[in-house]
Amino acid sequence: MPELPEVETVVRGLQSVLPGRRIVEFRSGKINVIKDLALLGDQIPGSRLVAVRRYGKFLHLELEPRASENARLFILIHLGMTGQLTVGAADEPVAPHTHIFFTLDDGRELRFRDPRRFGRVQIVSESRREELLGKLGLDPLEASAEQFRKQIANRRARIKALLMDQHVFRGMGNIYTDESLWRARIHPSRLGANLTAAEIAKLHSAVQHVLHEAIRLRGSSVSDYVDSEGQNGEFQLRHRVYQREGKKCSRCGTKIRRIIVAGRSSHFCPQCQRAPRTRKLRKKAPRRHAERRIKTAPVTTKTPE
Ligand SMILES: [Zn+2]
Repeated sequence: MPELPEVETVVRGLQSVLPGRRIVEFRSGKINVIKDLALLGDQIPGSRLVAVRRYGKFLHLELEPRASENARLFILIHLGMTGQLTVGAADEPVAPHTHIFFTLDDGRELRFRDPRRFGRVQIVSESRREELLGKLGLDPLEASAEQFRKQIANRRARIKALLMDQHVFRGMGNIYTDESLWRARIHPSRLGANLTAAEIAKLHSAVQHVLHEAIRLRGSSVSDYVDSEGQNGEFQLRHRVYQREGKKCSRCGTKIRRIIVAGRSSHFCPQCQRAPRTRKLRKKAPRRHAERRIKTAPVTTKTPE
């Protein structure tokens, strides 16, 4: 599933070709990836693209306001599980599962392909964009060490869940969460509130290191992900834990394990990332005392008689 580094790679590719181009035609096939088809068909042809940006895992293409209106419009795109956004010659063969075509004034075409169709494309006003994106949390690449610490400290949720919660940090998913936790030597089940300040600082730099490295290698191609030119990324070759269950940890040789944390599959090294102490033992102890008291009670009442 495309996460921050994959979306950033696509955005950087599109930034070098889209700004300044006019969309001359809009065509669509399978439409359940499109939220508002009529509006897209009405507003897009003739519009000039002025900017391409990433916000969390969302891409947005900004359109130049039309002479008659002042309002800015944006094409907001989420790649979902298998979405691909590529630019190529309009006469290139069309890959199966290509659902949207934006023909550009230079003869090329921006295409949206999505085999599993969890992606979404919609046209939104500036206020609607703020409404949708304003709910998202901090960008982990932009967060200072102190901002990062404040998002985690005192929260009684698993660190794995906190890193993946888009309202806490925008852009992280399973791959980069597992890789960052391994790098920082933190078990995915630890609670945010139980991490020390030093551990959070280590995690902050691990997250930034992993994300920067993944962007440098143009993302991880683990399912259908490709960049804007249709090329695979290379960061999957550097994964240390993600989808490496049963393989040796590159740091200590212990076998990587996979467990479910907060409903998500999590890969970690049981030696480098020590599990938190479970509460089970502490909970059981008082129950045993209670049982003993019940058993002894009739004996004590009988003795005085
Ligand atoms: Zn290890």
